[in-house]
Amino acid sequence: MNRRQLLQTSLAAPLAFTQSAYAAPAAKTVIDKIEVFQVKVNHRGNWVLVRLTTTEGITGLGDASHGTDPNVLPLLKTFFANLKGRSAFDVEPLRGALWPEVQRNGRPGVVAFGGLEHAMHDIQGKALGVPVWALFGGKLHARIRHYANINRTVTERTPDGFSRVAELARKAGFTAIKMASFDGMPRNDVSKIPAFTQIGIDCIAGVRKTIGPASDLLVDAHSNFDLHRGLELAQRLEPMKLFWLEEVCRATPDLAAINKAAVMPTAGGESIFGTIGYFPYIKAEAVDIVMPDIKYCGGLLETKKIAAIAEAAGMPCSPHGPASPIGNIAAAHVCATLPNFQILELGYGETEWRAELIDPPEAFDKGYLTVPDKPGFGVSLNEKTAAKHAV
Ligand SMILES: [Mg+2]
Repeated sequence: MNRRQLLQTSLAAPLAFTQSAYAAPAAKTVIDKIEVFQVKVNHRGNWVLVRLTTTEGITGLGDASHGTDPNVLPLLKTFFANLKGRSAFDVEPLRGALWPEVQRNGRPGVVAFGGLEHAMHDIQGKALGVPVWALFGGKLHARIRHYANINRTVTERTPDGFSRVAELARKAGFTAIKMASFDGMPRNDVSKIPAFTQIGIDCIAGVRKTIGPASDLLVDAHSNFDLHRGLELAQRLEPMKLFWLEEVCRATPDLAAINKAAVMPTAGGESIFGTIGYFPYIKAEAVDIVMPDIKYCGGLLETKKIAAIAEAAGMPCSPHGPASPIGNIAAAHVCATLPNFQILELGYGETEWRAELIDPPEAFDKGYLTVPDKPGFGVSLNEKTAAKHAV
C-alpha cells in the first residue's frame, strides 16, 4: 500500500457515520429538534441562530449567520436530517459524513454545518456539566481580548467619519480598533485607484491620530490590491505602526510576497475552509497570523485543529468574526484553550441591543470578555429580544 492509498483508507473510515461507542453521555444527548431564530441586525444582514434540543430537553446554541443569504436555511434542514437521532458527541462522524456535501454547497453549506456543530458542543458541555472550554483541552486564558471592528458601523467613509466611530469604541474601553478604508476600491478604473488609495490611507492616519499611539490599530485591505500596489501600500502604512495589515491581495503567492516584504505583521485566512484549505496557506507563509472563522472554517473543532497547525508553524491564531453574541461566546470558549491565541474580532456597534440577545447579557470590560465557567457556552438565548427583532 502506498502513502496515498493508506491515507484514503483512513479517511474513508468515518464516512459510515457509526453510532458513538461512548454510550453513557450519548443517551441524553440524542438530538431531536431544531429551531432557527432570525434577527434583523442592519444593512449587512441578519443573524441566524440555531437551537438544537435533545430528547431529554438539553439545548445547544449555534451561529449560522451569513448576511441575507437565503441558502443557509434549507441547508440547515438538510444537514439536520443527518443529525436527528444521533448523539451531540458525534461531531467527527458528522464531519466525516457531511464534509463532501458541505463543500459542494460552498459558503452557505459551511455556515449551516458550523451552526449545528457549535450547538452540538454546547449540548456536550451541558450534558457533562462542564464549560465548552473544558472539552477543548482546558482554559489558558480566563479573559479574551477583542478588537473592535468599526467598519460595519462607519457610514461616512472619510477620515472624520472613521475617527468618530473609532473614538466611540475607544471610549467604550477597546484598546484595539480595526478598519477597512479601502472598501469600494474602483478596481475597474485604474486611473481612480491612486486617489482612492490616498483617501483610504488618510482615513487610517486620522484614526491613528484619534486613538493615539497606545491603542492598537488593525487595517483590513479586503483583497483590494494587486501585488505591486500591495507592496507599495505596506510601505506607505509603515508610519501608522499597525498591529496588523490584513488580506492585501487574494492570491496566496502574492500574500506571501507581501508578508515577506512588510515590516508590520500580516493576517488573513477568514474565508478558508477546513484544515485542508489552511495547510497550504500556512505552509506558504501567506501571512504571519491566521484568522479562522468558526462560521466559515467548519466549526469549533476545526478552529482548534487549524490553530494547532498554526501553532506548529510558530504562528498566532486570531479568529475572525464578526458574529452574533452566540457565535462570539462560542469562539471565545475555543480561544480560551489556544496556546497561540492572540485576539478575537468583535463587530462593534452593529446594534444597540446586541448585549441583550443573550442571558446573561454580553459584557465587555476594557475590550475583554470573561469566558463563562458554567456548563456549555454558559449563556441562553433571550427569546424576548430575539422576538422583538425577528425577521
Ligand atoms: Mg478580513
